[in-house]
Order: sequence, then structure tokens, then C-alpha cells
Amino acid sequence: MATLKNPVIFETFEENPRDASVFNTADADEGKLATCEDAVAVILAHDISATPLQVAFEDPAEKPVVCGEDGKTPRPLQEYEGRPAVAYAVEAALGAGVSEVVLVAPEDEAVRAQVVAAAEAALAAARGTGGAPSPAEIAGAKGEAGGCGPDATGGRRTAGAAGARMTAVPYDSAAAEAARVASRSFELYSVPEYLLEIARDAVAATPGAKHALLLSCDQVRITPTHLRALRSCLDAHPEVQVVTSWITWLRRTPFLLTGAFLEDLAARSERARALPYPLRPVEHVEMRDVVFGEEKIAANATVPPAVAEFFDGLRMTAPQAVRLARNLRKADPAERDAKLATLSASDRELLSIAEETLSDLGARVAGEGADLGREVAWASAWGARNKLDFPLLNDRKRRDSFAYLDSAATAQRAGTALEAQREFDAQANANVYRGGYDLSMQATFALNDARAAVEGFIGAKRREVVYTANTTDGANLVARCWGNANVGPGDLVVTTIAEHHSNLLPWLLLARRRGARLAYVPLDARGFYDLDSYRGLLAQGPKLVALAQVGNVLGLENPLGDMVAEAKAAGARVFVDAAQGMPHVKTDVYALGCDFYAFSGHKLYGPMGIGGVWVHPEALAEMEPDELGGGAVSHVAYNSFYLRLGAIGFENGTPPVSQAMGLAAAVEYLGALGMDNVARHSRALTRYLMAGLRDVDGVTVWGDHSCEAGGSGLVSASVAGTATGEVGATMGKVGVAVRSGGHCAMPLAASLGVIGTTRVSIGVYNTAEDIEAALVGLRLCRKLRP
Ligand code: PMP
Repeated sequence: MATLKNPVIFETFEENPRDASVFNTADADEGKLATCEDAVAVILAHDISATPLQVAFEDPAEKPVVCGEDGKTPRPLQEYEGRPAVAYAVEAALGAGVSEVVLVAPEDEAVRAQVVAAAEAALAAARGTGGAPSPAEIAGAKGEAGGCGPDATGGRRTAGAAGARMTAVPYDSAAAEAARVASRSFELYSVPEYLLEIARDAVAATPGAKHALLLSCDQVRITPTHLRALRSCLDAHPEVQVVTSWITWLRRTPFLLTGAFLEDLAARSERARALPYPLRPVEHVEMRDVVFGEEKIAANATVPPAVAEFFDGLRMTAPQAVRLARNLRKADPAERDAKLATLSASDRELLSIAEETLSDLGARVAGEGADLGREVAWASAWGARNKLDFPLLNDRKRRDSFAYLDSAATAQRAGTALEAQREFDAQANANVYRGGYDLSMQATFALNDARAAVEGFIGAKRREVVYTANTTDGANLVARCWGNANVGPGDLVVTTIAEHHSNLLPWLLLARRRGARLAYVPLDARGFYDLDSYRGLLAQGPKLVALAQVGNVLGLENPLGDMVAEAKAAGARVFVDAAQGMPHVKTDVYALGCDFYAFSGHKLYGPMGIGGVWVHPEALAEMEPDELGGGAVSHVAYNSFYLRLGAIGFENGTPPVSQAMGLAAAVEYLGALGMDNVARHSRALTRYLMAGLRDVDGVTVWGDHSCEAGGSGLVSASVAGTATGEVGATMGKVGVAVRSGGHCAMPLAASLGVIGTTRVSIGVYNTAEDIEAALVGLRLCRKLRP
């Protein structure tokens, strides 16, 4: 396994009080915090983007502060409370005990001079020398001993900063680009390898330095206490390689990077280079967050003018551009010119991206042999036919201008599912299992049939599926009703680092409640569950193992059958999160051998508000209700009750009957399409997408999708230069619906070293054109923010 260090993260909740990771500076015991004197501060002051920086406080009564509202001030020079942003970074570092500062300054000479002068002034103020030192002084001379408190320049004097030194390193965009290309975009939370190398060299060049403290210039509210909290976190967790703070979900700085992490950079690039571009190994950094709960910083909240201008002039969406590009191939030059003359500049640009995309894709597909071309043609025709069955996508306005590629979040609803639900509501509505009159009996029969349809779809027997609200509800039901009764103090529950929060937090809560231990299986370099670590954990005899059938971020199908068998042999019960698996993989729960299988209707082309969990009869016998009421019981006396036979004894109150009709119709629809066809379609379009992604420079795909197990129609990628949220928003503006963010899998994002990813997920209605539109959207992101 080509990973630097990949220990299983292991937490015992008895020792780990709730919310231990949230650090409150107001309550900090300064005396107990470590100083950063063994760290070099690397201040990223090269970002001269003109985007205003917005600092919003958690207290809603406090107005947000916008730095550099003129929109013209380069970021390190943006003023916050009358002082440039770079001054705050310098001061925080010195205040935390750092005595060596490396300023990564702008490339532009004139701006660099201003930024260096502002940083020098802050350094001089902290040293108590009052005026800006000469460059020679910055490079080497020691200053006077300084006290604490404000000085004449408006900065703050810092005890211990007297001997502080600063070196300015100009940012070299050509070197940064060369490093990016050579290392296949290796980066850590959007910090590229080029900057990490500067940090490594700074540590190597500074006697006594063991770590690098990386600060960016938009962190105007970071204090010395924050930085010392990071350093203390490292003392508490010596195995950790990177400590960072999490200001809001979209921003992780500052970083404290250990020397060991920095030394391994070259080896990381080497491993990345060994893989076919643009695939990058899924690597693990043992990392901790220290969460400061004080302010939110929304940099880049404003769209740069060039981007705004592009969208102002845009009339076309990406699917339309793709179609036009295809039509223009058949047009003669005069027709083409006439058409181009009717387009806006932005439309022409989008069209040219679409033309480029189609031509690169054509070459790629031809290069991969006839098989891919044939499969894509089949999948596209099959998807186009299916699209007609989905009223929302088949809508006149949307069908030519919109590509829906977010089915992993919620699939579009099949017309038959909508109709079944409407039909029940309009014609058959009555309560179930209760009334003796015809309408109620018919509703009961209809519900029984609907449950049988779902059970039949997954090879379950009658009355083994409990209706729940969704997968999350299913996991929580198992955690409460099985977990509380069967997991005790010291017991082990195993899940993986790649799980959706819904297959993680219920077990975390269970472990806390019962004093149990929760262990996470890490991933191997291809993004699959690391089977060696898994087996190591099974050897400890876990009570419960919780695994996803298909991961919602990496989209990989793990060897679940074998893993379940091994867990069962080790004596564990196995919960399978089938939210992403059931829509793509033909499943027989008995053949799979698990104990619980949870799913959501809305991912299966059915309604929201309904899902289910299949429970094996042996596991059912170990479950105890933790809530009760009508519906779940067959007999009640003053001091006793009987649960209804089968898993439906865990269904309280009136079930979601009309949603159950919709869900049954949806799985019947899937069954009629044929799960083999569903899988073939996902695989073909995933291959097509991957072929296209190889031509988009700066895109990193997470996980290995070159094998069959990577063909579940779900691919996550990062786009260099564009924040994750921006990728989703940009693609949305050109009619491509994809999801960007953490995908409710933050531990996974942390282990990949990213804040989030952009996920393309394929449903049965997607066509080759939808994939082409997604590629156009991604290329557009690269063009707009190169
Ligand atoms: N597990 C996985 C793998 C998922 O993808 C999701 C939904 N994104 C869930 C669980 C939770 O599903 P729901 O919100 O329907 O409960």
C-alpha cells in the first residue's frame, strides 16, 4: 500500500469528551498552550486577487466586515480595521512565538514592494522598533527587545519578537505551474505542492525548526492563541502529521505541517506520477482539525469581474452548446459563420469549449477501441429512451438545456412512481391494518403488495423489510434497536473512513452511549477499503461492522460479499448502507449474507420520505424496540405488549402508504429496465466520462475508476484553481447539475486532504450528451479561473 502513514483512527469515547475538538479561544488557558518557537511561519501573501474578503461574526447582531470593499486592493493589502491583512498574519505568528517568517510575496514587483513593506512594518511594530527596518535588517539583524501592546504605528508589540527575522520569497507562477504538472496536482486542502515545498525548504534552512506554520493572508481574525492551540494539538497527538483549523466548512487554514510530512513530499509526487494522468492516489495524511468557533470568513464570496462578464453575456447552456457543436460539424462554412454571428461572445466561447470537448472525446474513444464507442452508443440510446419516463427531465424547457448528474443525491422520479402515488392519494386513501371497510382493506392489501415488491427486488422474504424515512433513519433504527441491546462497554464497532455521515454518526452515537469503541477502516491507494486493516480489526472481534455497498464520494464498489463473509466469520453483525448500491447493483440480501440492508426511496427513482431496512431474522431476534405505539403491536395489555411478527414490528404509527406505492412502482420500473442493463449503462458512461476527464488539465479524479468496480456511475473530482463550491455553481449556471462539497463525508475529505469534491453521478436517464455537457462545464471552470 503506497501510503505515507495510514494508521487506523481509533477513538475511545470514554477518554474523549464530547466536542473535544472545538477550541474556544475565550476559555483558553494560555499558560497551558505550547508555543510555536520550533516552527517557521510561512505567510502566503502572494494572492493578489481583488476579491473582497468578508468576515462575518457568529453573533448575528454584529455586521460583517468587508475588507477591501473597493474591489481593487490586492488581498494581503486589504484593510481590516484600518490595517493591511498581511500585518495580522505577521503579528499572529510572532505572538505565537515564531522567530522566523518566510513571506511568499506577489510576483508583480510593484505590488510585492508594497506587501513586503506592510509586512516589514508589522514586524517592526511587533519588535517594538517602531519603524520599518531595511531589507538587510529583515534578512538578518536582531531588533531591540520589545514589550507587548500597541505602538506608534498602530501595530502590536509582541514579547519575544525581538529576534524575529523575515525573508521574502517572490511567488513564481512558472515554477508553481511546472510543479503542478510534474506532480499531477498534488495539493493539500488547495495548498499546492509548490507552496508546501517552500515550507519544507524554510524548515530545512532554519536551525531548530521542526514544523512549518502556514498562514494565509485572509485570516485576519487568527490570533496567537489559535496558533498555539494548533501546536498544543500536535503535542497531544504525536502521530499526527498535519494540524489545521476549520473556520467554516469551506476554509481550512492555518496549517501546522510537521517536518515528517514535508520531507515526504517528493515521495508523494513520485507516487502520483506513477499513475496515469489525471488519476492521483488516494493518500492519507494523519490529520487533526482544531475548530475555532468564533467567526466565519467568506473570501471569494464575490465573483471576479471577468467571470461575471462571461455569465452576463451567456444565453446558452452546456447541453445546448454540445448539440450546436455537433450540428455545426455538418454545416458548411457559410452556414457556420451565419450561426456564429447570431451568438454572443460568451456563447461563442462556450461553443468553442464544446467543439474542443467533442473532438478530444472522439480521439479518446477511438484510441480506446471499438468496444467503448459501441458501449457508449448503446448507453446513450438506452438513457435517452429512459429519459422519456421521467416527467421532470422530459419537460419541454429542460430536456434540451439541462443535464441532471446528481442522482446520487436524489434521483429524478419515474413517471410510474409519481402516478402510483397520485393514484393512491386520489382513489385509494385510507388507513392500513385497521379498518374493516373495503377502502381500508384495499389500502392494506396495496401496502402488503408494495412491501412484497421491495422485498422481492432485493431477494428478501415477506415481512423482513421495515419502512423507514430513508437510509439515515434505517441506520439509526439499527443503532438504537439492535445496537443498544447488543453493544456494551469496550465492544468494538467498525466502520470506514469513506462512509457517508449517515453510516458513521449513528455508530458514533451508539459507541458514546454504550461506552464502546469505534474504529475506522482506512482506504488503500486506489480508494478501496484497505483489507489488511479491515482484517486486523476483525481479529479484534467487533460486534458490528457497517459498510457501504457503493461509496457516495468515490463511487467504488468494494468486494462486499467477501468482506461480509469475513465479518460474519469473526462473529460480527453486518450493516450495509445500500443508499448508492441498491440503485446500481443487482442485490440478493441472502446471497450477500449481511444482517441489515438500508436504502432510500428517493435514490431509487421513487419518492422522498420513504426508505427501508431489511433485517435478517436472526438479527431481528436480537432487536428490542426503543419506541412503541400503534402499528407495531399486535396485542397490548395493561403491562405487556406483543410486537407484530416480522420486521414490521419496528414500524410505529401509520406508515407512509402512498410513498410506499411510489417506491414499489419505482423498484418495479428498475426491475423492468433490468439491473444488468442499469449496471452496463453506468459502466459505459463512467468510462466515457473518465476518457473525457483525461483531457481536462488540472482535474484530479479521486479513486480508481479504471476497473469494473469503479464503474458505478459516480465520480468525484477536484478542479485546480477553483473552489469546490464554485465548480458546482459554475456548472449549474451552464445547465449541468452536479453536487459539490463534502458530500456528508467529512472524515473522507479530511483523509484526502480536500475540503470537498465535485461529484458527477449518473442515473438511468443520462446520455452521452449529458456527460459531454459535464466535461464542457469542467473545462469552463478551468478557463474562467486558470
Ligand atoms: N448513505 C449514503 C452512501 C448516501 O449516499 C446517502 C445520501 N447521500 C445516505 C446514506 C443518506 O441517505 P438519506 O439522506 O436518504 O437518508
